[in-house]
Amino acid sequence: MKTLNDFNFNGKKALIRVDFNVPLNDKFQVTDDTRIKAAKPTIIKILEDGGSCVLMSHLGRPKGFQEEFSLRHIVKKVSEIIGVEVKFAGNCIGEEAEKAVTGLDNGEVLLLENLRFHEEEKLGDENFAAQLAKYGDIYVNDAFGTAHRAHASTAIIAQNFPEKKCFGLLLAKEIESIAKVMETGEKPVTAVLGGAKVSSKITIIDNILNKIDHLIIGGGMTFTFIKAQGGSIGNSLVEDDKLDLAKEIMAEAKAKNVTIHLPVDSVIADAFANDANTKVEDVTKIPDDWMGLDAGPATQAKFAEVIAQSKTILWNGPLGVFEMPTFAKGTIALGDAIAEATKKGAFSLVGGGDSVAAVKQFGFESKVSYVSTGGGAMLESLEGKTLPGIAAILE
Ligand code: AMP
Repeated sequence: MKTLNDFNFNGKKALIRVDFNVPLNDKFQVTDDTRIKAAKPTIIKILEDGGSCVLMSHLGRPKGFQEEFSLRHIVKKVSEIIGVEVKFAGNCIGEEAEKAVTGLDNGEVLLLENLRFHEEEKLGDENFAAQLAKYGDIYVNDAFGTAHRAHASTAIIAQNFPEKKCFGLLLAKEIESIAKVMETGEKPVTAVLGGAKVSSKITIIDNILNKIDHLIIGGGMTFTFIKAQGGSIGNSLVEDDKLDLAKEIMAEAKAKNVTIHLPVDSVIADAFANDANTKVEDVTKIPDDWMGLDAGPATQAKFAEVIAQSKTILWNGPLGVFEMPTFAKGTIALGDAIAEATKKGAFSLVGGGDSVAAVKQFGFESKVSYVSTGGGAMLESLEGKTLPGIAAILE
């Protein structure tokens, strides 16, 4: 696996695919700069080597040129974070880009305009990729967030750099973290899958059952499993067409010596609202008109025990409706348990959408080993798929 550290960038132009698809407010200010900060180490290493950086990214889902999706809005922020005055080209290809690239000196950074202003980007157009490829001596992919897409700048472009392509430091770290869980993880390996639906996690479950020792199931998914086993779940979230699937998963886990841990109690509510009436109930005895919205105290303790014994932990999906404070306690307790295990030497990876939001919201970001920067890309990795952006560098 070639990474940035395999190259010396002295006097070279690095063409870097970054993921600067950051949220902007109505004044076009960056409201979460995590992704820019995450790309900084790669940019700094190249500048310190004595090279220059041509950055390319997408922002949002524009249809042709749309001012609100211009990367011009983030130039100041990127300059601030990198500590270098970043230049900008108002088009990612053509005369303006070419001129800006030619005039770029060692130690300088240029950001090209939104790649998705050209539909060829998403189409994976080879000619478009070849035009971009002219702007660098070495191609660096550091955009994990788009690694699951076979777009021109994320995958197709790599064929123009047969010997001169590599992973940036961020993407390399993502790949290593996933491998630490899925391939080289110290046992016992525990996966926590929460969130809303079994249907959206089934491919992940299928893939990870071969790699883990314990599977903790929580969140809304719980109730499909409990109902499949004959429990009463009241008004809780359920996928009635997945009851057989839940039984199959239980059987498959048993055959593969994976212990499944299901909640034993639940914080139930008489409405899907933060100020609903609540009580703690046996997860198999939820009365009609009540719904389970969080893991109960006995479940929290049971899960914490499993986590405490684990050496490798993967967490995807909250244990309750954490967006409402009344139902956030299960998710917070799990975060505490994972933080504690991490402190004692376990490796913990948090990835995929809402669990990342929860981890940030409750301050666990610095207390786990790694928080993935890619939502869809992370989920597809856990499903065992080869991501085009990664394959293109390895080829
Ligand atoms: P996912 O995107 O599948 O990881 O699902 C995340 C969502 O699941 C969050 O918005 C949670 O509010 C929701 N969730 C977690 N537990 C429950 C539950 N018991 N009932 C309904 N929704 C839940």
